[in-house]
Amino acid sequence: MKVLKFGGTSVASADVIRQVRDIVNHAESDRVAVVVSALGGVTDRLLETMDIASRQDAAYRKALKGIEDRHLEVVRELMPMKSQSGILSKVKSELNVLETLLDGAFYIGEITPRLSDRIVSFGELLSAFIISEYFTSSGLTAEFKDSRELLLTDQNHGKAAVDFKESNKRIREYFEQEKAAVVVLPGFIASSEDGNVTTLGRGGSDFTASIIAAALEAEELQIWTDVSGMYTANPKIVKQAKPIAHISYEEAMELSHFGAKVLYPPTVQPVLAKGLPILIKNTFEPDAPGTLITRKSPEEGRTVRGISYIPGISLLSLEGPGMIGIPGISKRFFEVLSMANISVVLITQASSEHSICIGIADEDAPRAIREIDKAFSYERSQGKIKPVAHEKDLAIIALVGDQMKNHQGLSGRMFSTLGKNNVNIRAIAQGASERNISAVIRKEDVKKALNTLHETFFEENIKQLNLFVLGTGNVGAKLLEQLRKQKKYLKDHLRLNVRVLGISNSRKMYFDEQGIPLQQWSDLLQKGLKADPKEFFKTIQHINARNSILVDNTASEKVAERYPQYLRESISVVTCNKIACSSAYRNYKQLKDLASQYRAPFLFETNVGAGLPIIDTLKNLVASGDEVREIKAVLSGSLNFVFDHFNEDTSFHDVVRQAQEEGYTEPDPKIDLSGIDVMRKILILARESGFQLELSEIENRSFLPEEALKTRDNDSFFAALKKHESSFQKLVKAAKAKKCKLKFVASLKDGKASVGLQHIPAGHDFYSLAGSDNIVLFYTKRYPKQPLIVKGAGAGADVTASGIFADIIRVGTY
Ligand code: ADP
Ligand code: ASP
Ligand code: MG
Repeated sequence: MKVLKFGGTSVASADVIRQVRDIVNHAESDRVAVVVSALGGVTDRLLETMDIASRQDAAYRKALKGIEDRHLEVVRELMPMKSQSGILSKVKSELNVLETLLDGAFYIGEITPRLSDRIVSFGELLSAFIISEYFTSSGLTAEFKDSRELLLTDQNHGKAAVDFKESNKRIREYFEQEKAAVVVLPGFIASSEDGNVTTLGRGGSDFTASIIAAALEAEELQIWTDVSGMYTANPKIVKQAKPIAHISYEEAMELSHFGAKVLYPPTVQPVLAKGLPILIKNTFEPDAPGTLITRKSPEEGRTVRGISYIPGISLLSLEGPGMIGIPGISKRFFEVLSMANISVVLITQASSEHSICIGIADEDAPRAIREIDKAFSYERSQGKIKPVAHEKDLAIIALVGDQMKNHQGLSGRMFSTLGKNNVNIRAIAQGASERNISAVIRKEDVKKALNTLHETFFEENIKQLNLFVLGTGNVGAKLLEQLRKQKKYLKDHLRLNVRVLGISNSRKMYFDEQGIPLQQWSDLLQKGLKADPKEFFKTIQHINARNSILVDNTASEKVAERYPQYLRESISVVTCNKIACSSAYRNYKQLKDLASQYRAPFLFETNVGAGLPIIDTLKNLVASGDEVREIKAVLSGSLNFVFDHFNEDTSFHDVVRQAQEEGYTEPDPKIDLSGIDVMRKILILARESGFQLELSEIENRSFLPEEALKTRDNDSFFAALKKHESSFQKLVKAAKAKKCKLKFVASLKDGKASVGLQHIPAGHDFYSLAGSDNIVLFYTKRYPKQPLIVKGAGAGADVTASGIFADIIRVGTY
């Protein structure tokens, strides 16, 4: 004998019911008990319909019609013409009874728990009846048996307690005398001593099947559902979740108690007592192995077996200065809750007994508060205990595994993973069984928390990075292209799954929580919403993805101003925008502090020398205890390009124009030519070296004539360059006379920084610097005479994008 249970989605339509028949037919057992749920969604529809009726809203008739049509259609599709009418009329007469009950609810304007059970029972009754008739018509020897005649319960409608002794007896007697190969029974429903219909709680069909399996000591209980077993986390929320091949009863029970809906929590108990295996299988993928649940699982190695969550949790806490003095406070507290029939999902009590904090279902909270406040009214009036504090709309997430107790450090890993992602933990509890560690968090954080914990405990180091890219100009476009091309490499070699969830330029913004397909980013962006930095931030906050990174490819001050907002959400910031780091020292410091406080890296390697590892090198020097004494550098690819091409045969104006056109300057070339850009860079290097410097303290010996410096737009700037050509020619001639080259040099010595044009003689490290290359000489305690040199291409979209890329990887491996 095997017992097979099919859930709502497994019997939702004629097509799946045919599939169910095949599964039953191949069950490899001489006898099979088939327990079915109502057709998918019907229980919910019935509850809604009775709710409408009880509000005396005639719309319930329309809702009922929908339920009727659904059943009649399934009969028509399943049954051969000749046997249709008999079954249709049987179904219709049942539906008439249902209608009468709903009419009653409508006229009285009320639903009692007893009537509610009676009404929902039609879901399972009808599905079991239809399925058994279909089985018979398709050649199986099948019998329908009304579970209400087998399962006896108390009168706790909605979630009745089973009288196992009597129920087991009735089940055994029935199956002894009934010889049909297949018996089809409705799940979920039972009856009480006084003959009324009761139900076993939402999702209770699993329990019905388990009770029958245990009573008959079946070989196996099979739960057929819409997923391929019990997964490491709810597969609807965690895409990377995998079915668990084999799990122990206790682990399965713990996971289901903590929200893994695939198995109704009480289901394990009856079969556990008899040691019968449970197999969870997928009706839509019958060949998938599914999950086997037995006494011991052979997969001992793994500590954490699954992660689950319970939504809709309230935290109540009782506190007060007098609590220590009052004896038996927690005893009384829990007695009150137990008398009120409120189940406590989680308890945390500080060992000082200063406060008690519990997690219960949101819907129980108002009642619990009333009862507790009533029970302690005397102590409250004495000021010894404060009124119960209540926080709602929370969720519990739990890590579950038999072996967890033998491993140190799991909770540390759990909480640091959550912390890094800015998931605020409201309370923590370790189950007495030590088979679970649970935490109470905000419901908005559930998806992120489950995914990030899953990544930490199950995904063998594949880490997902979620990027939000601002700016799609030269650099942004190149970056997106590099990300697209390197996606597979990053996954295979660095175990990073890098996705772009949002893109914005100054006109449009576009989001896709599943990852934007990077071949089409440009078209998709066109179709996006109007760009808005505030909305951009809010959407990212709402998406609430783990390991989120803001990538700023703009030069915008408005964007830079928002970095603190992002860091406070533990969203890392990677930027080539120099504004933030070169603004007031106070801002720079604040960003650095926020980054460490919220454990969200703030990286800006490309602020100096584009893709060259200048800041990273400096950081490593400082971190390893070295001291920077002097920095000499050519840091402007743009200026280097300009002075490399400028000579007596060219015009300064034309060379600058060419540099701009080839993308070697900022959009506003004056920022480069005036030396401001180099000032910002040396400022950043000075700060990274440990000096508390401001931009205004840097000496700038600008070579630009006053008039050019004062211009307000590119056109007048270029006009001024043209006008002062002779002064530029003078610079070249003076250098040439000394056999020197002109280089715009930045230096830092003894904490003082300056920038300006210098004559560089042959043989100097800077002399042969060509094109848009940059060079930095670090003189430090360890490199006192021969400096540490970083040299290479220091401008251009491609290398800048690759520098940003490198920072993104740094975040990924942080
Ligand atoms: P049925 O109607 O077949 O009883 P349920 O909806 O009650 O099906 O249970 C199956 C659902 O349980 C899945 O579709 C999935 O969304 C949810 N679920 C939650 N946690 C888990 C988990 N850890 N493993 C598998 N499914 C889970
Ligand atoms: N049909 C019932 C419900 O939806 C029982 C079940 O499906 O297990 O809760
Ligand atoms: Mg279920």
